Amino acid sequence: MLVNKEVYTSVKNELDKNAVTLVAVSKVQPIEKIKALYELGQRDFGENYVQELVDKQQQLPADIRWHFIGHLQSNKVKFIAPFVHLIHGVDSGGLLKEINKQGKKNNRVIDVLLQVHIAQEETKFGFDPVELHDILSNPDLTLANVRICGLMGMASFSDDMQKVRDEFHSLKLLFDQSSVLKNSGDSFKILSSGMSSDYKIAIEEGSTMVRIGSLLFGARQYHQ
Ligand SMILES: *Cc1c(COP(=O)(O)O)cnc(C)c1O
Repeated sequence: MLVNKEVYTSVKNELDKNAVTLVAVSKVQPIEKIKALYELGQRDFGENYVQELVDKQQQLPADIRWHFIGHLQSNKVKFIAPFVHLIHGVDSGGLLKEINKQGKKNNRVIDVLLQVHIAQEETKFGFDPVELHDILSNPDLTLANVRICGLMGMASFSDDMQKVRDEFHSLKLLFDQSSVLKNSGDSFKILSSGMSSDYKIAIEEGSTMVRIGSLLFGARQYHQ
């Protein structure tokens, strides 16, 4: 069996009940497994690597909504700009401007989420609250071909579930504060948080979109 239908159905039902969007994280997973989940009705898939995303997009049905959830380098935006549904990990003003430029070239508005740094552990990526405030309230930031639709965050990799909960909780507070700032607007509605190990907590703490990989597809095999 390529994917476990019972697991998918029960996760999907649980999310539907809470009006939470499921992004199935298919990085490193083979085309056949993605097709199997597609056959079960899944349409939102998330990928971390540009080349892999482009390859898969060409091979799979056109009505899949592709989410880019990895760290995106500015010089690679052009490869995904024609079709990407939502870019989750925008972590610099420069990247935002490049997405705007590529959106314009492709004659479309590209939806993005700003990544914020909520984990206590050191990670390289994401805005801190002050930088986030600056981006969202900067009056000079007029980007006609980008729509900032919300925030994305990742909790610490930790067994301490109270710590994880506290981090998601502060992310939600930041989300609520951000939604009233100048550059967020009516489209600022998505809070992307929660993965296989912590999505239930994320939902309890206000997530509207979860990114789940291994729970749906099984463990990722990097060396095939
Ligand atoms: C890989 C990945 C996920 C999915 O992780 P799982 O633990 O397999 O659910 C979610 N979000 C991001 C940003 C990822 O890189």
